[in-house]
Amino acid sequence: MPEAVLRQAAAEMLDWRGSGMSVMEMSHRGKEFGVILAQAESDLRALLAVPAHFHILFMQGGGLGENAIVPLNLSRGGPVDFVITGSWSIKSHKEAQRYCAARIAASNAADGHLSLPEPATWQIGGDAAYVHLCSNETINGIEFQQLPDLAALGSKAPLVIDFSSHVASRPVDWSRVGLAFGGAQKNLGPAGLTIVVVRDDLLGHALEICPSAFNYKTVADNQSMYNTPPTWGIYMAGLTFQWLREQTEGGLTGIEAMEQRNIAKARLLYDFIDGSSFYLNKVAANCRSRMNVPFFLADESRNDAFLSGARTAGLLQLKGHKSVGGMRASIYNAMPLEGVQALVNYMREFERSHV
Ligand SMILES: *Cc1c(COP(=O)(O)O)cnc(C)c1O
Repeated sequence: MPEAVLRQAAAEMLDWRGSGMSVMEMSHRGKEFGVILAQAESDLRALLAVPAHFHILFMQGGGLGENAIVPLNLSRGGPVDFVITGSWSIKSHKEAQRYCAARIAASNAADGHLSLPEPATWQIGGDAAYVHLCSNETINGIEFQQLPDLAALGSKAPLVIDFSSHVASRPVDWSRVGLAFGGAQKNLGPAGLTIVVVRDDLLGHALEICPSAFNYKTVADNQSMYNTPPTWGIYMAGLTFQWLREQTEGGLTGIEAMEQRNIAKARLLYDFIDGSSFYLNKVAANCRSRMNVPFFLADESRNDAFLSGARTAGLLQLKGHKSVGGMRASIYNAMPLEGVQALVNYMREFERSHV
């Protein structure tokens, strides 16, 4: 979380702008929360340049919830195609199999999830109700630097993206997207809020068994208030949207400014890793994630010493995911360049004292 957002939330904690209430004490149908919700939606729409023919939904259930909710709403019972690129798309594919015929159009499993399969090689069926991919594989550190143009590949299917771990870190090309979903907890706010951005024509096709609270049309028709929305999460994400909109970098503002900052952060870290034989990153250069940077020590027997020294230096949460091992630096939006510089300084010093 950006520190400025945490400070503002702290200042408003007991009394939101003279209302006499904390946001957590408001009725979600009261006029105060109505203002917070409408502002959050319009700020997110402006920030991500979401076109008017898309709905923005504030839901619950997280990314894993959407793995079921998307096929319940979009599959129409028909086959859907998945692009497997790492842990999260594998999970999404597995869950969708409970609700529809979930096929695999492409997979990078053979190379250990270290590169992206070329879109021209994807086997997309003419009958696919949609194509799913994870635009940033958080655990494997793989990111689509460009979303595929399914129409150019001869497919009419809408593209569904799980952008949980890089939402608001770069612009989205909405002309290539039918639906995007993401849990808020990586780049937007506290856990408990799920963002769904869905093209209008994809609403209204839910399977009979779809729970009403997870039916996109029902949620859209009720302005995300069919049931009580995650009010605190919406408020915090709303503050983050405003903070993001105000950011400037090299003459750019908002999401473009964040993108420049994220490029600079990622370059600093990858360049250092590539320039060292003490550390390595195995992901193909054209799809390295700007947000999640897994790396390894050439001598893994030093992992524990590396992590405990990092902790002492105030550098936390660097242990890699257990399925990948090694280290992982998650350098989300709120991580400043100085934080990445501090990591690189520590890595250089650790290397110097261990060769
Ligand atoms: C973190 C993450 C999720 C999280 O799902 P939850 O249900 O919110 O825990 C989903 N997809 C991706 C790509 C993620 O990084």
